[in-house]
Amino acid sequence: MASDVFFIPAQRNEGDGALAEKAEKLFLKVDFLGKIESDSFIACKIHFGEKGNTGYIKPLWLLNIIKQIRKKTNKVFFTDTNTLYLGKRSNSIEHLRLAWEHGFTLETIGVPILIADGLIGHDEEEIQVNLRRVKSAKIASAFLNSDGLLCLSHFTGHMLTGFGAAVKNLGMGCASRAGKLEQHSDVHPWINPKACKNCGICLDYCPTQAIVQKEESVFIIEEKCIGCGECLVVCTIGAVKMRWDEDAERVQEKMAEYAYSVWQKFKGKIGFINFLLEVTKDCDCMGIDQSARVEDIGILGSRDPVAIDKASVDLVNSRSGKDLLRAMNDVDWSIQLEYGEKIGLGTAEYELIEIK
Ligand code: SF4
Ligand code: SF4
Repeated sequence: MASDVFFIPAQRNEGDGALAEKAEKLFLKVDFLGKIESDSFIACKIHFGEKGNTGYIKPLWLLNIIKQIRKKTNKVFFTDTNTLYLGKRSNSIEHLRLAWEHGFTLETIGVPILIADGLIGHDEEEIQVNLRRVKSAKIASAFLNSDGLLCLSHFTGHMLTGFGAAVKNLGMGCASRAGKLEQHSDVHPWINPKACKNCGICLDYCPTQAIVQKEESVFIIEEKCIGCGECLVVCTIGAVKMRWDEDAERVQEKMAEYAYSVWQKFKGKIGFINFLLEVTKDCDCMGIDQSARVEDIGILGSRDPVAIDKASVDLVNSRSGKDLLRAMNDVDWSIQLEYGEKIGLGTAEYELIEIK
């Protein structure tokens, strides 16, 4: 049976107030609050954007949604987990400061922020899933202690998974540091010595000092590499390569299994909103201002993470007149959806319902 995906066309130049009203309309259509009991703990999972990034979902777009949730419960909070890679979101203190810098203050949004996996990413609990690749998913504890989850995702391209949206926000985004490591453990980048300019930039971003410099180029010590993929992003000339045949498939399947573990924990008390505004080649972990690769499309809402992501991909690719996601990062993005459907995370069949 097809899942409902609600869609409202929108563009950034309409202004924050208009976007907040549209996001609210969509949120009410999804009827997330229908299953939520009063006084419940509600986690609003979001990405606050890395320092220097400008594409993240803006807090003012979410004001009306938060007002609606607070009619039902005051125990609502914004949340994200700490990152694997070095940066301003790898511990809770700097993560919170960055969220404030990006406008997620109590004064602006009216609700607090909690970093879901604690000070340095160790606060986790395990969910037994016993799936093909993951037996026990390591999830940030704040999610497991919440009663409902609203997953707010900025749709972007992604170097490992082709795109990142609801499934990725759920699977990778709700995992603790150990959970993220488990999902990346099959990623093994390598350096093409003929292309490497030996500039040394990737050395500064590698969290485990796995990259070392030799006379002609740098190279990766495999035993030290945790597969975070940071070097892939920072090497702008493309000297860092993936073994795509195996890596993309394993990462996406593990990510879908992690997403499934979180999804089934909430037993229907879960909703998804995807923002297809400023769709960029890489995700909001990039600390730079990236240009949009397609015109702004709008906002989507659903209770089904696979359906909302499939509808989002279809809209992006049809607006750009080609498989833009494949063209941007040369990754088969469909694995996370096909595998997600196979394990019962949702369905790729959807009915797109445009609302005015
Ligand atoms: S960033 Fe790229 S070019 Fe520079 S040292 Fe690393 S692999 Fe080589
Ligand atoms: S070498 Fe490995 S650990 Fe270091 S940045 Fe690259 S992927 Fe991450």
